[in-house]
Amino acid sequence: MPALPAAPLAERRRTRQLRVGPVGVGSDHPVSVQSMTTTVTADVDATLQQIAELTAAGCDIVRVACPSADDAEALPAIAAKSKIPVIADIHFQPKYVFAAIEAGCAAVRVNPGNIKKFDDKVGDIARAARDHGTPIRIGVNAGSLDQRLMRKYGKATPEALAESALWEASLFAEHGFHDLKISVKHNDPVVMIRAYEILAEQCDYPLHLGVTEAGPAFQGTVKSAVAFGALLRQGIGDTIRVSLSAPPVEEAKVGTEILRSLNLRPRKLEIVSCPSCGRAQVDVYKLADEVTAGLEGMEVPLRVAVMGCVVNGPGEAREADLGVASGNGKGQIFVKGEVVKTVPEHRIVETLIEEAMILAETMEPAGGGA
Ligand code: SF4
Repeated sequence: MPALPAAPLAERRRTRQLRVGPVGVGSDHPVSVQSMTTTVTADVDATLQQIAELTAAGCDIVRVACPSADDAEALPAIAAKSKIPVIADIHFQPKYVFAAIEAGCAAVRVNPGNIKKFDDKVGDIARAARDHGTPIRIGVNAGSLDQRLMRKYGKATPEALAESALWEASLFAEHGFHDLKISVKHNDPVVMIRAYEILAEQCDYPLHLGVTEAGPAFQGTVKSAVAFGALLRQGIGDTIRVSLSAPPVEEAKVGTEILRSLNLRPRKLEIVSCPSCGRAQVDVYKLADEVTAGLEGMEVPLRVAVMGCVVNGPGEAREADLGVASGNGKGQIFVKGEVVKTVPEHRIVETLIEEAMILAETMEPAGGGA
């Protein structure tokens, strides 16, 4: 069978451009990673501490919930002190939208299904947002879909989610306001993917991808990776948020890793380790864990292969910057495709770490967050 051609990602879908604080959003800009704090927003110190942790983990934009007047009052301090742009998340109270814009939040997220008294305020919100240069995210969620659309479609179908978002966007458009980003989240990746595909066909607003209520870390990571991969492969998606029932730092890590795996964010350290099998002549899991731990925090795009035997070992090790192919109680150490030394098994980890440090000095840091 002839070899299939490599299938690179499709060109990014052309979108309008907007700025969430200093972060450009849209097809002219890299895909950004978002997360959301879990602290009580009114607790400014705790919220800023969590934002700092998210920033270190590679998060580009952070969202904070604003369910009460106390939270709204905390927004100016949080927006001023956060190192990454802050989006205020407003579900029920239009007055907090104005408060968030006044507070200097980089954007405001509104949920059309939940803001009952919203329609007659769109003009005022559009005016305030335009005056402050504040984009609005229209965040439609399957769990809080507008009742009118629930009656029309019977459930949160892809068409219902897209129609809700586009209808809300049209209300802002009537007031000449187009600084919009749209999300249509559903917990089922299949429904979610189709909803975004419909949106991508019908508008040119930037899209924020999310599988909502994706579940605990393992399930949520899989669902998000599958859904984002399917969409980003088509060039759809301008910001992403992995929603996990886990600390938000984990969301940021998974989000950055998804982008790295698609080459949408510079890669840093990458361990290419084999899954092991009956041919393995070394404890591959232990070896991979020890090498990963020994190189933790490395900022350069180093690819290190840890292979359990000589079947695929030398081939993979040669493809990497650095690698080991194990066998017969020894490890062949490869650097840039050449065997540089053979060491006894107990010296494999320390030798790989030494060689990695030497290589790292010749490489530029990858950048783009943790
Ligand atoms: Fe098995 Fe060797 Fe392949 Fe590892 S490299 S999975 S030990 S054949």
